Parts: sequence; C-alpha cells; structure tokens
Amino acid sequence: MRTYNKFYINGEWVEPIGKGTSEVINPANGEVSATVPYGNVEDVDAAVNAARNAFASWSQTTAAERANFLRKLAAEGHRRNADLTQTIIDELGMPIQNAAEFQVDPLAIICESFADKAKHMEESREVGNSIIINEPIGVCAMINPWNYPIWQLIGKVAPAIAAGCTMVVKAASQTPSHLFIFAEMCDAVGLPAGVFNMIHGSGREIGAALSSHPEVDLVTFTGSTAAGIQVSNKAAPDVKRVCLELGGKSPYIITEEADLDAAVDFGINDVMVNTGQTCNALTRMIVHESRYEEAVELAKSKTEALVVGDPTDPGVFVGPMSSTEQRLTVLDYINQAIGDGARLVTGGTGMPPGLMTGYYVSPTVFADVTNDMKIAQEEVFGPVLVMIKYSSVDQAVEIANDTPYGLASAVWAGDKDKATAIARRIRAGQCTINGGEANHEAPFGGYKESGNGREFGIEGLHEYCELKAMQY
Ligand code: NAP
Repeated sequence: MRTYNKFYINGEWVEPIGKGTSEVINPANGEVSATVPYGNVEDVDAAVNAARNAFASWSQTTAAERANFLRKLAAEGHRRNADLTQTIIDELGMPIQNAAEFQVDPLAIICESFADKAKHMEESREVGNSIIINEPIGVCAMINPWNYPIWQLIGKVAPAIAAGCTMVVKAASQTPSHLFIFAEMCDAVGLPAGVFNMIHGSGREIGAALSSHPEVDLVTFTGSTAAGIQVSNKAAPDVKRVCLELGGKSPYIITEEADLDAAVDFGINDVMVNTGQTCNALTRMIVHESRYEEAVELAKSKTEALVVGDPTDPGVFVGPMSSTEQRLTVLDYINQAIGDGARLVTGGTGMPPGLMTGYYVSPTVFADVTNDMKIAQEEVFGPVLVMIKYSSVDQAVEIANDTPYGLASAVWAGDKDKATAIARRIRAGQCTINGGEANHEAPFGGYKESGNGREFGIEGLHEYCELKAMQY
C-alpha cells in the first residue's frame, strides 16, 4: 500500500494545511491501495501563489532550457514506468496487458514531442507593419479525470512547460498516486521551484477554488460535461481562459462495402478497452441494414471471446469498473436499455462468469437500438456497445450527428476516399478512417458539448499561449 502525506509546492514536499485524508480503493478487490492527503482551499492558495511567484522568471527562460527539462522528464518517465503502471492497475483496475501501453508509455513520447515544439515559442511572423509573437498565458490550473490519468496529466503539463507557463495540478480523487510520483519526477529533474505544484482534494472544493482563483490565468479541465460547465461558470467572472475536454457518445459508421470482420473487431476492441471508460470510445456502431445481422453476430462472438478478470493477469483484456458507483451507474443504463426495448445480444447485469467480487460488469452489446433511446444518447462510460441500423449514407450521417456530443467518430468504408468523404460530414473533433492508428501529434478535442479545447500537437501548445501583435 502506498502512503502519501505531503503536497509538492514551490519545489518542496510540504505539510498540507487541510487535515483530511482519503483512501484509494483497488476496484478489483475492494482493498485500500493508497492513502493520500485531502487538502482545502488554503492549500490551493499556497500552490497558486507559488506558481504565480515562479512565473516571472520561468516565462523568461529560453525554449532550449525548457526543452531540456522535458527531455529529462521523458527519461524519468522511462525510469518510473513500472511504478506508474502499477498505480494504474491498483487504482483504476486497467489490465496489465494495456496499462503501460495506453497509459504510461505516452508520457515519455509526449514530453519529447513538446520538447521539439518549445522552439515555436521563439518564432514570430510579420503581417504588414506588425510582428506577431506567442507568449505563455501564465498560471494554469489543471484538473484531471480518473480514466486515463497519466495521459491526461502529460497532455497538459508538457505543453505548459514548453510554453513557459507555471501550473497547479489536481488529479481525480479515485486515481491520485501517479501525481505524487510525477511530482517526485519533477523534483528529480530539478524543475525550478514553483513551476510544477500539486495538491489533492475534492473536485467540488479545491477544483472549484482553482477554477475561480484570481491568480489563475487558464483552467484546463478534462472530465464530465456537467463538471466542465461548473468550472466555466466559476472561471467566468474574471474572464479566465477555459479549456474543456469533456464527454462523448461517439459514432462509428460501417458501410455495406466494409471488410466487416475487421471493422467489427476494431469497434469491439475500441469500446471494451479500459472497460469502456474511454472518453472517445466508439459506443454507437451504425451499420448498413444489408450487413446489420451479420455485424450483430460478429459483435456477439468477438465480445464473448474477450477475457474478463483480474487486471494483474496478463491474459485479461477487460478489468473491473473503476469504482462501485461507476458499476452501479452502468448497470442502471443496461436495465434502462432493456426496458426501452433494446435487444440484449450479450452481457447484461449479471457478473461475468467465474467472478464473485470486484466491481465487474459483463461486456454488453445491444442491437435494435434507435438513436432516441437513452442508451444511444448518454455517455454510459462502461463496456456497453449499441448497434443502430441505417439505410442510406445521409441517414447514417444524420444519426452520427444526432447527440449533444462531438468528441470522436469513425468510418469504415470500401476505401479511404469513400470513408473520408463521410468523415467530413461528421461533427466531431476526430475521425478514425478504416481502423487508422491513434496519433499523438494530431490535435485531440471535441465539438459541441464535448468541449472547446485541443490537446496534443501544435494546437495543444497554442492552448497555453497568448498572442501579441507589435506594430512598428
Ligand atoms: P468528473 O467527475 O467530471 O471529474 C473530473 C475531475 O474534475 C476530477 O478531478 C474531479 O475531482 C473534478 N471535479 C469534479 N467536480 C468539479 C467541480 N465542480 N469543479 C472543479 N472540478 C471538479 O469526471 P470523471 O468521472 O473523473 O471522468 C470521466 C469523464 O471525463 C467522462 O465524461 C469522460 O468522457 C471525460 N473525459 C474526457 C476526455 C477528453 O479528452 N475529452 C478525456 C478523458 C475523460 P474529484 O475526483 O475529486 O471529484
């Protein structure tokens, strides 16, 4: 069990002012995996003030100096990879088969990526008699969710360091240990005092205090749409910049010409990885009517072939839900879908075979779903796929766009050009074409209620910049 009792503020491990503690539960067995301090708004003040004080000198460092720190952090990421991976297994329940690859390995890759991009901060361009430059926005408050905690953390911290910003970070209550380890890494590479600060505590209390703090210039938030709206409201009175990365209900159009076996295989893996707790999961599979029953049969057999169980077992692909609350939420959605008349193809509300304890949900597929059903409109955040039938491409696009969300999407068609033509009609920030691979250099973010920011790529750096025009 891990025990932490200090926060990292102004380059030191300090006693929290708030005296709370919180237990972190392993969702595979219900045991306590860590205890961590739970701070209060006075801890927020201390951390934000440290970041404010550090900004004046840090913002004047050269891009090469900041890139050097990022490369050192990448090396530390390799060194601490096993520790970080273990926190993901213990706190989130993500199986060991995927925990390093999807959660921890990107840390070093993304640090290197933004080390390369830091030089853009020293570039300028001329428009008529104006010189246009980028400057760091200032003190950043970073609030993260529990589902991809390290990927989310580094997607914010690395560009902020590259830009010359200082920061205060809060992790989700369910998955905090990686953030304490990351603070040790910042300490180990000698990041100047106050550039990176971490505190921990309740989103409702310290998340809200970070969002409204007068010394914070940017709040960058990843989490639910409901909490994102609260963050925006708190940040509004002093017109802070707010970058929101929120929920999704992403569509996946499969045309009649698609390689159906490959297309369904891709879709099942995409939805079920991390037990369906993925913001950009392709949870609505929209299949042409001529191939629909064939696709349903493929989805059933591929879902039933997934190994569910103990996340420490290398053969397991689907672990537990992250918490008992999340499990109950998902079971409610499954019950409601059955009540609404969706056809249960596989899964349901029973425990997966052979499992008696832990917060497990059986991987579930529903067919005969219409897009107006709750199961097709709301983010379930569990291992649940809905399959919807369409008769024309126009109808498929209409269904794809008919939710409040617009985070991700996918199309599998006869070839790349045909798929791309459909992708251009979908209102979402990302579209995967014929099973293409994820790309850390491409901007990630949503349309509509999925958010208003972009992470990763050069656009991810620009979130941390102000633009200045100087006329001569
Ligand atoms: P959440 O409940 O909204 O919590 C996210 C973070 O916000 C946590 O650190 C939480 O702290 C904090 N928080 C909660 N209420 C707050 C408030 N009123 N003010 C400020 N902070 C507050 O979301 P979650 O359940 O952790 O994460 C799942 C959601 O994140 C899903 O909707 C998923 O789609 C979305 N997500 C989006 C992306 C993306 O890039 N678009 C990526 C990953 C996840 P506590 O934990 O202490 O409550």
